[in-house]
Amino acid sequence: MLFMRGNSQTFQAVVVGGGLVGKAAALALTQIGMRVALLAQPASSPAPGVRFDSRVYAFSSSSQAFLERLRVWQALDATRIAPVYDMRVFGDAQAELHFSAFQAAVPQLAWIIESSQVEQALDAALRFQPQLNWLDARAQALEVTSEHAVVTLDDGDTLSAALVIGADGAHSWVRAQTDATVKRRDYQQTGIVANFSLGKPHGETATQWFTGGEVVAMLPLAGDYGSLVWSAHTAHADELLSMSPEQFTAEVERITGERFGALECVTPPRGFPLALQTVDRLIAPRVALVGDAAHMIHPLAGQGMNLGLRDVVSLTETLAAKEAFRDIGDPILLRRYERSRREDIQRMMVATDGLHRLFALPGPIAKGIRNAGLALVGAQPQVKRWLVSHALG
Ligand SMILES: Cc1cc2nc3c(=O)[nH]c(=O)nc-3n(C[C@H](O)[C@H](O)[C@H](O)COP(=O)(O)OP(=O)(O)OC[C@H]3O[C@@H](n4cnc5c(N)ncnc54)[C@H](O)[C@@H]3O)c2cc1C
Repeated sequence: MLFMRGNSQTFQAVVVGGGLVGKAAALALTQIGMRVALLAQPASSPAPGVRFDSRVYAFSSSSQAFLERLRVWQALDATRIAPVYDMRVFGDAQAELHFSAFQAAVPQLAWIIESSQVEQALDAALRFQPQLNWLDARAQALEVTSEHAVVTLDDGDTLSAALVIGADGAHSWVRAQTDATVKRRDYQQTGIVANFSLGKPHGETATQWFTGGEVVAMLPLAGDYGSLVWSAHTAHADELLSMSPEQFTAEVERITGERFGALECVTPPRGFPLALQTVDRLIAPRVALVGDAAHMIHPLAGQGMNLGLRDVVSLTETLAAKEAFRDIGDPILLRRYERSRREDIQRMMVATDGLHRLFALPGPIAKGIRNAGLALVGAQPQVKRWLVSHALG
């Protein structure tokens, strides 16, 4: 049911936030039979003449499997899905690291897909859920009692539910209504994203350069196109974002060298501030946090969305496996969810933050150590297999 409003309605769960994580959560919960309200905007259509969405994600095999279970993966336009079979990482000296799906004995390392493609498929699936009440509204107040949580919307309507799910991003409003403590360390970097037409085929390879404390990645898009993610120091990013398309393209070509030949920028660059954000509790009375509301990491490993979708899988499985006598907001259930997520989140934070710090260290000694480290990892097939299996999620 879409865009139906009532003055006061009761649900089992209210999902606040319509990024991919919130929409996937609403769909997953309705598919296990829950009556759900979703506060979210519908997917926006790309601007006229723009061929690719500038928000592009590397989806891991766990995310792919989850989207398949939701029957969203099957609805994606197959011509817009780019598999990644190889990954090449270049250090800031001569070191190079090569990961391949073949060596790791997996069908592919990841899939690259535009955010809007997945969001539109999620929207289409959500529209067919009779258990869902989808409201294009914002939450304004949250009151929690021992019986239920009540969310008041900006038009004064109220939604009562056993559980409120905060999927409202890094600056989560839901989280702010709880006493969760947030620690944020600004990376003093901006993630610049843009898409390019490539002069040479990408060969289904994701390529990444560590250079001067910055990380530049070119991810393969369907056809001879590539998606750039440049994690640049803030002042440098401001400079890059103020350039003409020709100047910006020349800067990217300076890094990518001969690998992709001449580039043409087909989606204008956009910047996103980067930070490491940790939250001490993923739960509060009748509240569970998922996605960037619960954790935010550096995008150098392309894992933030994958982590958020794994939150949704865990939460859904916990609620689906609940004892019949428990209510959905039972603190024992919520604690099970929180426990199930701690290790994965912690591991991903340590890995991405560690890599960022390693390549941010100035000086020739640090440079020598990290490039020797890359070369050493490159020479150890077992270590590479271990890294790939963890990155695949
Ligand atoms: C440059 C860059 C590249 C990245 N690349 C990758 C990648 O390749 N792979 C990967 O896995 N991850 C990647 N990430 C991480 C990924 O973008 C995030 O982890 C992911 O978008 C988080 O999704 P979310 O749904 O939790 O939050 P968001 O996408 O931030 O969505 C939150 C939603 O909540 C809504 N909202 C906020 N407040 C309210 C309110 N009060 N009421 C109702 N709605 C509200 C917002 O409008 C928004 O729609 C990248 C990040 C960056 C910056």
